[in-house]
Amino acid sequence: MSRSVWPTCFEKSHPDRRGADIPALDVPVKENLLPAELLDDAPPALPEMSEREVMRHYTGLSRRNHGVDNGFYPLGSCTMKYNPRMNEVVSAWFGGLHPLADARDAQGALRLTYDLERALCEITGMDAVSLQPAAGAHGELTGLMLIRAYHARRGELAKRTKILVPDSAHGTNPASAAMAGFEVVEVPSGADGGVDLDALRAACGEDTAGLMLTNPNTLGLFETNILTIADIVHNAGGFVYYDGANLNAVMGIARPGDMGFDVVHLNLHKTFATPHGGGGPGSGPVGCKARLAEFLPAPVVVKREGGYALDADRPFSIGKVKSFYGNFGVCVRAYAYILSLGGEGLKEASEAAVLNANYIMHKLRGAYKVAADRPCMHEFVLSTENIPGLTANDVAKGLIDRGIHPPTIYFPLIVREAMMVEPTETEPPEVLDAFCDAMVELKALHEANPGALGEFPLTTPVGRPDQTLAARKPKVVG
Ligand SMILES: *Cc1c(COP(=O)(O)O)cnc(C)c1O
Repeated sequence: MSRSVWPTCFEKSHPDRRGADIPALDVPVKENLLPAELLDDAPPALPEMSEREVMRHYTGLSRRNHGVDNGFYPLGSCTMKYNPRMNEVVSAWFGGLHPLADARDAQGALRLTYDLERALCEITGMDAVSLQPAAGAHGELTGLMLIRAYHARRGELAKRTKILVPDSAHGTNPASAAMAGFEVVEVPSGADGGVDLDALRAACGEDTAGLMLTNPNTLGLFETNILTIADIVHNAGGFVYYDGANLNAVMGIARPGDMGFDVVHLNLHKTFATPHGGGGPGSGPVGCKARLAEFLPAPVVVKREGGYALDADRPFSIGKVKSFYGNFGVCVRAYAYILSLGGEGLKEASEAAVLNANYIMHKLRGAYKVAADRPCMHEFVLSTENIPGLTANDVAKGLIDRGIHPPTIYFPLIVREAMMVEPTETEPPEVLDAFCDAMVELKALHEANPGALGEFPLTTPVGRPDQTLAARKPKVVG
């Protein structure tokens, strides 16, 4: 593909060109149907195109996009696994169901909600789950609101003002804690890449509301001290929150509930296969131990004699966090995924995800620096720090030209020139090999000709935009 800018549909617009001809109105127009102040003086400035032009425009755009369906996508922490099409078919079965349908007419959807909640309890070791939150970050906020509600009910909220967050955490963790009204205290990592226990002990006290932790953490390392960590926080009277974005490493093998966690969120769009990356929709169910369950968002689905019902009579609930009952289509996909794999299949998925990550790490550890040189879980972090003049950004741009989505770069923040690689379980060995070859080739190109990578990418419509400007002021209209 050569570099060429793709005009916007506004630039392709031709006056009076139409996609469809609507017959002229042959019934009387009812005057003043809408209040005059709500009406615009002129029609909206929409592009005018034929159906064929619209079709070619969007098909062309989609072919310039990179997704799991057309290439390797080892974006660390995001679990860009292949999405089985069967889940899409099953999700579409529910497309005709109105969210305001009477519970009697929605028994299938209610049963699915109920059963999925039970399955997620089983997978995480929690006692209750709510499917309402729309994504992981929303689940974090919801989970922290449960912790807040608990402390408030015991009259301890004025005292318990702090949420501890390790320095390796995803940026959403401190942001969610601040949104939930807590003060964020950063806990440093130790030399082994895990939480520094002495620093944690020093940070814990009467003012601790809880600790947020990702396990395995963002270096792809399992926190081997997790039981001690949970004890330290519990002894101080705080809760331990599990950021479940990395559950793909441990499904069916280890459960957050057995590691001492009290609250979890899951990213169904990561671990349980839903197309994502374009901004949603996602789903971030929150699970908790029994002593927090009464605070979960209402209404909840209950199983009664005559069938399933929605129960809104929850006096201590934090209330609704999402319209209706969450992003139901994503929940259906996750349900289909869980049932089709079964308990054994979920475990195999995690095992293969961990194997694939270790395979790549071992092939690349000679070429690049490995942030923590010990067996990893489902992902690991490389760095270009050992290669003078080469940046993670250069490598990322070079990978794009080779048809590979770059790893997550410059995260976690505790590793300089970080590249966080997560292959997932859905890639065969030849794809992993091709990635390793591309990584080694890029390093060799740089060493033969420092600066060679500065031109990349050469094959995309846009080369290297000013990244800050592109994020702050995206040019979405021509
Ligand atoms: C993706 C991710 C989140 C946020 O989840 P969203 O679904 O994107 O809101 C939080 N923590 C970690 C570690 C993540 O990878």
